[in-house]
Amino acid sequence: MRILLVEDDTLLADGLARALRQSGYLVEVAADGRTADRWLESDAFDLTILDLGLPGLDGCQVLQRLRARRQRTPVLVLSAREALEERVRLLDLGADDYVVKPVALVELEARVRALIRRGQSAPDPTIILGRLTLDTVGKRAWLNDEALDLTAREWAALEFLALRVNRIVNKEQIMQSLYGWEEDITPNAVEKFISRLRNKLEPAGIVIRTVRGLGYYLEKPAEADGTA
Ligand code: CA
Repeated sequence: MRILLVEDDTLLADGLARALRQSGYLVEVAADGRTADRWLESDAFDLTILDLGLPGLDGCQVLQRLRARRQRTPVLVLSAREALEERVRLLDLGADDYVVKPVALVELEARVRALIRRGQSAPDPTIILGRLTLDTVGKRAWLNDEALDLTAREWAALEFLALRVNRIVNKEQIMQSLYGWEEDITPNAVEKFISRLRNKLEPAGIVIRTVRGLGYYLEKPAEADGTA
């Protein structure tokens, strides 16, 4: 876990960096806003701890520039300012959390842990395509809320297509997605999986199209018609 600590007060920066390193984090310290901005642009950090009063660019500017680049690194602000409007403004600018100075180390570390956990949380494992629902963690599928009976390979091929909805994949790519199974997968076998999947899916309006010479794609189902 790599943390960028942006703090121009060297005494405070040293103390925080040492404590965080003892907790097992890799910590880089930037003492001014321009350095922080440059490092954030070029390097990947799991978290930024950002002081507000900084030489060069101030903390708000660093934060604004980071979010303007659509970088999603979590930002924990160190704020000497306790004013409510200031904290609201920081959160609006894209800060994830803040700690008011003087910093209580246990509180800082708890917030660091929480933000890093949040940053790592997995994306939603459920794919919903019209009347088809896939649980990519449990490796199960439902059609119209009824469990769909799929072999392991059919599941793998369906998941591969569903993750690339409306994008053409060729047989080679599907075969590669099925590697790891005991037997070799042949192009003919892929055709059979696709054919069996079609039989199971098409009654619910889920369509796998063939693009001659290129491969297949799972067509994004039309939005459910006004059954509100
Ligand atoms: Ca400062």
